Amino acid sequence: MEPAGFYQNAPPDLSMPSFIVVVNSKSGSALDPEQWKTFADPEQFPVWIKLDDVDDIVAAINQQRPSGQRCRILAAGGDGTIHAVAQHQIQADATCEYAVIPVGSGNDLARSLAMPLNPVAAWAVATLGPVHWIDVIECTWDDGHCLATNMVTIGNTGAFLRDLTPEVKQRWGPFCYLRGVVDVAVNLQTFHADIALDGGKPEHREFLNCFIANGRTSGGGLTVAPGAKLDDGLAEVVLIRDGESPEIAGLVGQYAVGDFLAHHLVESRQAREIRIESAEELPCTVDGEVFTTRTLQLKVRPRSFAMVAPVLGPAQERGVAAS
Ligand SMILES: [Mg+2]
Repeated sequence: MEPAGFYQNAPPDLSMPSFIVVVNSKSGSALDPEQWKTFADPEQFPVWIKLDDVDDIVAAINQQRPSGQRCRILAAGGDGTIHAVAQHQIQADATCEYAVIPVGSGNDLARSLAMPLNPVAAWAVATLGPVHWIDVIECTWDDGHCLATNMVTIGNTGAFLRDLTPEVKQRWGPFCYLRGVVDVAVNLQTFHADIALDGGKPEHREFLNCFIANGRTSGGGLTVAPGAKLDDGLAEVVLIRDGESPEIAGLVGQYAVGDFLAHHLVESRQAREIRIESAEELPCTVDGEVFTTRTLQLKVRPRSFAMVAPVLGPAQERGVAAS
């Protein structure tokens, strides 16, 4: 049975939308667009846009979208692909829906949505599944502006995750972010910033990583915000402080994700608005896209993004509120 409230803000629309397929042939394990087309009815899916340049994608969608009609945009790629497509939402009207077909290397938003990671199964959900309105995080920095669908990171993350083997990620899970696990492979830096939540007084913080999470995972399934809900109007702010973690060695590869937030070097809060200022350039990522900035302003836009997600069974869950 679907968790209560799943349909509360999105009554089922049984009419068939127009489809636009956006394919990022560069992302992770994506198939070539020509291969995708072999299992899609060309009459039902007449419009295919190849994502070569993120800046052009919004214009391409607008050009191809039938005006005034319900339209579902299928984004086949990774988190960067759905991120690029999501920027369309900045200027779109309510007739656009979005679905991710996770064929990238990370697929973190898809994981929080509980989308199948098998592309063919995901295609079925993306075309036939119901819409759920999720939050997005509006991001403004020194020289940029965008909507984040899954995760904003500040600090070491983004660089060092690429250096970790799948075995290390699997063994240590979110504890990868603490010193003692990864600093044998990479040079972790500490960063300083003033962080203000919900208009409160800025607090000066020193950290290895800071995550502003809409979804639960970052870096290809590494959980950083186990309790994050995609539709509760709140971002999870998870800060990893620097320090020695003698108990890390004692974990011996066994961890419970829930224990991560209880670690004495991990802080977790919730906020609707976050303002970050620093005297130094902070390395940041938004849904995997890299930039640097000294100021960063984040604001949750509650339930403003019409995202397709599967109907779940009783034993399954996703990062959306149950009530
Ligand atoms: Mg949330």
